[in-house]
Amino acid sequence: NTGESTASRSGVAVKAGTPEWEENIEYFIKKKLRVWCRPANGKWELGTIVSTSGEEATVSILSGNIFRVSTWELLPANPDILCGVDDLLQLSYLNEPSVIYNLHYRFSRDIIYSKAGPLLIAVNPFKKVQIYEDNLVQAYKQKTMDNPHVYALANTAYNEMMRDEVSQSIIISGESGAGKTETARFAMHYLASVGGGSSAGIESNVLCTNSILEAFGNAKTSRNANSSRFGKFTEIYFSVSGKICGAKVQTYENILLFVQSRVVQVTQGERSYHIFYQLCAGAPSYLREKLNLRNACEYYYLKQSSCLLIEGVNDAERFRILLEALDIVRIPKVYQENAFEVLAAILWLGNISFHTGDFENHAEVVVDEAVTTVARLLGCTTEDLMVALSTRKIKVGKDHITKTLTLQQAFDVRDALAKFLYASLFDWVVEQINISLEVGKESAGRSINILDICGFESFQRNSFEQFCINYANERLQQHFHRHLFKLEQEEYETDGIYWTKVDFEDNQDCLNLIEKRPLGILSLLEEESKFPKASDLTFSNKVSYDSTSFLQKNRDLVHVDSIQLLSSCSCQLPKLFAARTDDHSLGLSNPNHSGGGLDFQKQSVAAKLKGQLFKLMHQLENTKPHFIRCIRPNEKQLPCHFEEDLVLQQLRCCGIIEVVQISRSGYPSRMTHQEFAERYGFMLFDSASVSKDPLSISVALLHHFNVPPETYQVGYMKIYLRMGQVALLESRRKQA
Ligand code: ATP
Ligand code: MG
Repeated sequence: NTGESTASRSGVAVKAGTPEWEENIEYFIKKKLRVWCRPANGKWELGTIVSTSGEEATVSILSGNIFRVSTWELLPANPDILCGVDDLLQLSYLNEPSVIYNLHYRFSRDIIYSKAGPLLIAVNPFKKVQIYEDNLVQAYKQKTMDNPHVYALANTAYNEMMRDEVSQSIIISGESGAGKTETARFAMHYLASVGGGSSAGIESNVLCTNSILEAFGNAKTSRNANSSRFGKFTEIYFSVSGKICGAKVQTYENILLFVQSRVVQVTQGERSYHIFYQLCAGAPSYLREKLNLRNACEYYYLKQSSCLLIEGVNDAERFRILLEALDIVRIPKVYQENAFEVLAAILWLGNISFHTGDFENHAEVVVDEAVTTVARLLGCTTEDLMVALSTRKIKVGKDHITKTLTLQQAFDVRDALAKFLYASLFDWVVEQINISLEVGKESAGRSINILDICGFESFQRNSFEQFCINYANERLQQHFHRHLFKLEQEEYETDGIYWTKVDFEDNQDCLNLIEKRPLGILSLLEEESKFPKASDLTFSNKVSYDSTSFLQKNRDLVHVDSIQLLSSCSCQLPKLFAARTDDHSLGLSNPNHSGGGLDFQKQSVAAKLKGQLFKLMHQLENTKPHFIRCIRPNEKQLPCHFEEDLVLQQLRCCGIIEVVQISRSGYPSRMTHQEFAERYGFMLFDSASVSKDPLSISVALLHHFNVPPETYQVGYMKIYLRMGQVALLESRRKQA
């Protein structure tokens, strides 16, 4: 699903307009109905057609200015009654400017949620909006409110779980900074409040896990001051009576987190993970002493980006909240301190430096406070640590010989160790949380799952990270499409109307390109990653990504000597992390000689991702999905700024336009017979001659106005109208 193909598809839509539109252009002139046009600056403007000549139209826009534009560039605008509708499917004309106009109209009135059929759209307000108060939780629960809202969606999920005894999923996607994590938090808050009150009070634990995971997995980036660098799948389990009885968190950190090496390398203006700054700012004095802790500005890993603070965020206060959360989740104090030791060891590792010794280009560790502190925090001797950081053992025939590392190699080994420690720590934290949230076996069963995962990404340069993210999203997109078509079909069938299934462009080809053996990108990547002489260039031919570092990132190596060092440590966690590398879940020990030594290779990143995705899709398959797309209205994270082009790009990229296009081929306008009769019934001249039931009034109206039979269907409950019909009825209503 590349931006390009969607763009060209919508390009066709712009050029051709709808058939109704082309036929009705004269009608639009006569009735002075509004159209969209794009005069000089490329921005869509509302106006009316003054005249046409050949393929050129003269249009008067709202400001009073007159422009000449090609008729191909004109699109019908919706009548006033459809201004700011809750659901984009209610629009008679589903073109891009109308969709954008509708979202913008709502956004400027602080209405951040809208629907596009089954999809909930959330536009990030970047400010506090008064729509999440407790009385609103009650209102959505009692259904006194049912306009689009994450509470309404969570309520539907909860009710359907209770009614149908089927697990539900809330799938949240969108770009970085679009508001996924906040939206997930509101959904959880709602569920905790409707499903709370169990004896164990487990719902507050579930909410606490958010702040713990955010401390370890979120960081300030250029796009979001609290950016999640991992995907998250939270299963919230409910008892038969609808009370929360446990939860389970699954993370997908390899999609973004550790391949990006944020622990050891931070881009200008960004930060490493929040937890480091929180620890430095907020640790009580006994802990500072124990860990030999300094301020953040004294650690190389943190200070390299010269960004240590986040505006409006108090790291010390956040640390206090974190400690509270760790206590609530019942992670023992000893464990908490073990984790802080690892964090401090990572920070001090970054301060270890090397110089070249007697032999040219042979790295030697500088003996200083950094190396002694790391050794103490890990529980090994300084000598052992120095050997592990500056040499490697190589097998020659049956013998092992020791080879000194170059400076560059030594720095790489140091950084790889830091990354390994952090990755292992993150996994361990997730495990501890899961132990604490574990469900009693007897009550496990139904669940509501919340997926918070980064949406499609397309930058100037797209690398391995984008490939992983986009691959995950292709899978989710397919899931969405299949679900969408099923829903459409089901509604038509239940309401007894005739409908021919529309063909849609599935993304199966794209998934095949990635997954299919033996020539899919993943297979090629695996093959090349195992092949000693392979280079990024040999891999790159078939991939439209910048393949620089694909192989290295996919291999994700950590030095085997480092693992051996950790396994000899006296401290709990380093030892545990080393032991895990023997574990099958982490991958097989696989000697790799490409680097001139013995490297420890975990299961490749892409292979792990594929496995995780298959598992995730399987988990989703057995649930009823609910989709939320979050939209970032501007790049500066400012309130009240709605950049139409930026929003449009996201709508295209994540397929909302496609949802809209799919609906064009069906019957996007739906009204119950009651609603239809109430709105238009008065236009029947002889009201005494029609019976009072709404269905008959609907049918009488359709006949009365000679609405062409191919443009509507009459269901048991509702009347279904093709694109544009409501607008025509509205203009007649105005004249009546
Ligand atoms: P990433 O992919 O980088 O993790 P994200 O989509 O999870 O991004 P969030 O962290 O949820 O983005 O949102 C970014 C910021 O936008 C929040 O820190 C908050 O300031 C603001 N925000 C998001 N949603 C809302 C909302 N519903 N109301 C008020 N502010 C919001
Ligand atoms: Mg997030």
